[in-house]
Amino acid sequence: MHEFEIIQQYFSGHGPQRDDVVMGIGDDAAILSVPPGMQLAASVDSLVAGVHFPEHMPPAAVGHRSLAVNLSDLAAMGAQPAWALLALTLPQADDAWLLEFSRGFFALARRCQVALVGGNLALGPLNITIAVHGLVPGGQALLRSGARPGDHIYVSGWLGDAARGLQELPAVPGAAAGDSGIARFCYPEPRLQAGMALRGIASAAIDVSDGLAADLDHILQASGTGARLQVDALPLSPWLLEHCGREQAVNLALTGGDDYELCFTVPAARLPQLNARLQALGAAVTRVGEITAGGGLQCVRADGTPWPLAATGYQHF
Ligand code: ADP
Ligand code: MG
Repeated sequence: MHEFEIIQQYFSGHGPQRDDVVMGIGDDAAILSVPPGMQLAASVDSLVAGVHFPEHMPPAAVGHRSLAVNLSDLAAMGAQPAWALLALTLPQADDAWLLEFSRGFFALARRCQVALVGGNLALGPLNITIAVHGLVPGGQALLRSGARPGDHIYVSGWLGDAARGLQELPAVPGAAAGDSGIARFCYPEPRLQAGMALRGIASAAIDVSDGLAADLDHILQASGTGARLQVDALPLSPWLLEHCGREQAVNLALTGGDDYELCFTVPAARLPQLNARLQALGAAVTRVGEITAGGGLQCVRADGTPWPLAATGYQHF
């Protein structure tokens, strides 16, 4: 199949229509209108087959996951997603693969109101690179640098399921939805509504892609603070505890990665606002510790004894 036929058949005209897309797919560049008073949040991520996901992962999951991990970055900034660009490198033009990939991609794109406005196609080892753009009211983006001593530390959802799911994925080619950990790895849910609800409330935020310990540490570095993390407070799903026991579950939550939940800090004075907004959303969050003036990241059990951190998060180099 010709390059333009692939774009026409699988990528053009599938997403939601947005009034702010002046020129989408089809010209040399997309032309997009940023409303007055809004700032643009832009991010890009590559997913390399065999590095970020197993080669035989179902193509619909590859489509969903590639977009979801990018939208998760927008969620962590408190931005509302608007537009995406997709650069696909494919080993061959496989119709069945493209159909499923685009189905997974656009199901999430439509749900999150993200218009695909351009991209690129190339022949080579499977690589999906997506750039996303979101909108946030001027000055209201959630940064990593705003945490202060005394702030409470929260995470959304469950931690560790996706890392455990990834361990099981190579053993079951073709499987996905049945097992909850595998589904969590294949179909992460970007916490966009929670991210937007945290504008004006969270002092700092990040999405958990490399494991809570490594990602929280980014907040600590950017904010010039330390933190005390209560490992017995970590949100561990019944599924995870049943599959690997408490000690291993805590290690996966701290160092496993791929959760795409939000980790954020909130000053004590804003806790009533936090509770009201999250209750309205029905979003589950768990308090897991507090920001300290220094001392790096200390992980402690409920009785105050230190929890030895096995290793920090995934590092490519
Ligand atoms: P150019 O050569 O000017 O870079 P291309 O021939 O690569 O343009 O692409 C033609 C049009 O199709 C452009 O608008 C481009 O953004 C879009 N496009 C290319 N590949 C994709 C893709 N995988 N998904 C969405 N749009 C794409
Ligand atoms: Mg051109």
